[in-house]
Amino acid sequence: MKEVQYNGLTFEPYIEKERIAARIKELAEVIKQDCKGTIPLFICVLNGAFPFASDLVRAVDIDAEITFIRLKSYEGMGSTGVVKQVLGLAEDIKDRTVIIVEDIVDTGTTIKNLVNDLKKKNPAQLKVATLLFKPESLKEDVKPDYVGFSIPTKFIIGYGLDLDGLARNLEDIYVLKQD
Ligand code: IMP
Ligand code: MG
Repeated sequence: MKEVQYNGLTFEPYIEKERIAARIKELAEVIKQDCKGTIPLFICVLNGAFPFASDLVRAVDIDAEITFIRLKSYEGMGSTGVVKQVLGLAEDIKDRTVIIVEDIVDTGTTIKNLVNDLKKKNPAQLKVATLLFKPESLKEDVKPDYVGFSIPTKFIIGYGLDLDGLARNLEDIYVLKQD
């Protein structure tokens, strides 16, 4: 694998697609066990989580549903920064097993707000699956239930993760090269 460039920045290979696929299989096995006796509803958080959600739900080969949401952010809410609001969740999640599927948990602000919003709709269980987790960046009191890879505080792209909208369609994950 070789380096890639976006917007004049150089990125080097970080997590290869074979490792991503193998890890997703492992997560899927755990999720299958945890969801026994339920028909889980996976909620894919667009845009970044689309490849992960697609691979994950197919690896969780039990009866399951998938839906998609986007988050709308508001600014000017004071120093805490950004408030996210759930847009377009058509499904009734009351009494359901719900698994939020995210690409990455960084400061935790996004997921914290989403979890708080969804909890108000009274799901039976609400879990968070994230492909990537930056524990050292975390500013909120959240702990994802299923984590693909815990990584240091570095900027990464590929497999759904973008730089200004680009690089989501890379099959592997790349990290910003620092020199
Ligand atoms: P958080 O709210 O800080 O946890 O992170 C929210 C969003 O920041 C994620 O859903 C991503 O869209 C974006 N993000 C965080 N870290 C990275 C990264 O390393 N590469 C690309 N996007 C990132
Ligand atoms: Mg995202």
